[in-house]
Amino acid sequence: MNVDKLMLQLEQKHPGEVEYLQAVREVLESIEDIYNQNPQFEAAGIVERIVEPDRILTFKVPWVGDDGKVNVNLAYRVQFNNAIGPYKGGLRFHPSVNLSGLKFLGFEQIFKNSLTTLPMGGGKGGSDFDPKGKSDAEVMRFCQGFMMELWKFIGPETDVPAGDIGVGGREIGFLYGMYRKLARENTGILTGKGGNWGGSVIRPEATGFGNVYFAKEMLATKSETFEGKTVAISGFGNVSWGAALKATELGAKVVAISGPDGYIYDADGIAGEKIDYMLELRASNNDVVAPYAEKFPNAKFFAGQKPWNQKVDIALPCAIQNELNKEDAELLVKNGCICISEGANMPCTPEAIEVIQDNKLLYGPGKAANAGGVATSGLEMSQNSMKLNWSREEVDTKLHSIMCNIHEACVAYGKDATGHVDYVKGANIAGFLKVANAMIDQGVI
Ligand code: NAD
Repeated sequence: MNVDKLMLQLEQKHPGEVEYLQAVREVLESIEDIYNQNPQFEAAGIVERIVEPDRILTFKVPWVGDDGKVNVNLAYRVQFNNAIGPYKGGLRFHPSVNLSGLKFLGFEQIFKNSLTTLPMGGGKGGSDFDPKGKSDAEVMRFCQGFMMELWKFIGPETDVPAGDIGVGGREIGFLYGMYRKLARENTGILTGKGGNWGGSVIRPEATGFGNVYFAKEMLATKSETFEGKTVAISGFGNVSWGAALKATELGAKVVAISGPDGYIYDADGIAGEKIDYMLELRASNNDVVAPYAEKFPNAKFFAGQKPWNQKVDIALPCAIQNELNKEDAELLVKNGCICISEGANMPCTPEAIEVIQDNKLLYGPGKAANAGGVATSGLEMSQNSMKLNWSREEVDTKLHSIMCNIHEACVAYGKDATGHVDYVKGANIAGFLKVANAMIDQGVI
């Protein structure tokens, strides 16, 4: 394999798909050596096959607003690779959704799901519909329209979508209701379901919990722990919430949390009722963190800024892609940050990653560090298949052990002669090998 040559061909085939091309290049560069040392991969055309989705479904979703007007949104499902299990990956409802973004997320999902050790392939989907500012009834009508088209192409052994940005418990409920009606069956067709109708405990907070478990393992390689450390987290969604809870439980102090409007700094720590208040702010659908500083006057609000300019020991970017750039990384390094663990998908830009890696910080890439969410989705699928519900302790113990295994796999393939671990390389190689070997076993299809 020659990465530059392959990338040139891909750029010609998919011009302008920036995020997708960026994600493919990162994986190919990590696996280049091991790929070329194993000629069976080249012989089976693994790379040429793995970089293209099995199929992409595109459909429109017409829906009627409360004002009686007809709206039309575009929707997609990218079924990327199912060599090791049913396609699995979230649905994102956000105005920024486009095919390049979903192809990037679906591609990443193949390797992330492989790392979890559970039998799940990679997929992703969504729509440019924006639930923000819509009434519950409008969101319901949109979700019903979305599922009326998608249901034909998914199934508990075929493709099992989950939530992502803009798709939380409410949306999963509306989607599941319509699927159940159309398919006339109660199966584990979506994950992130409500506790009373097939959902797993801990799923909402699993990604954040898992991210902190992963960071804990990284810290342990340097004989460090969360105890007494300061933490900055971006976003105040599902992932950030879980991360804030778990980091606090492990003895750290979360001092900064952000939203699209800026960030709040609270030297006393954001814990207990303060985290509950963040949840309230989120539920308000206004997407702002500013009111926190009015409610808790010891805190300070920094309008339009990112939390990465604060002095913290640990940074957990948990909001959105490309939200931590080179300058942010340089500030974190300058201020003595020792660990950056990605709760979001691709929150650090390639230039930021270069700075972080050059300075040998502990760096957990999203593919490994935020795999706890999909791992717990996999646990939800297992429970649905068995028609059983595990307890909070059982799910949390399994999640913890999966995150430790992912960390171990990254170390196995990412440790160099000096003992330094390149977690990006480790995660890419470990995730790739399992899928590539399955593809070889199953022939050219
Ligand atoms: P969410 O919609 O619940 O939360 C996203 C949060 O980010 C919101 O609070 C929003 O206000 C905030 N935000 C948006 N733009 C921002 C910006 N520019 N600066 C600061 N904050 C901003 O979504 P989520 O489920 O928490 O997902 C967050 C990220 O984690 C996404 O990249 C998603 O793909 C990834 N992820 C989520 C899961 C999961 O289980 N939910 C699993 C793996 C990865």
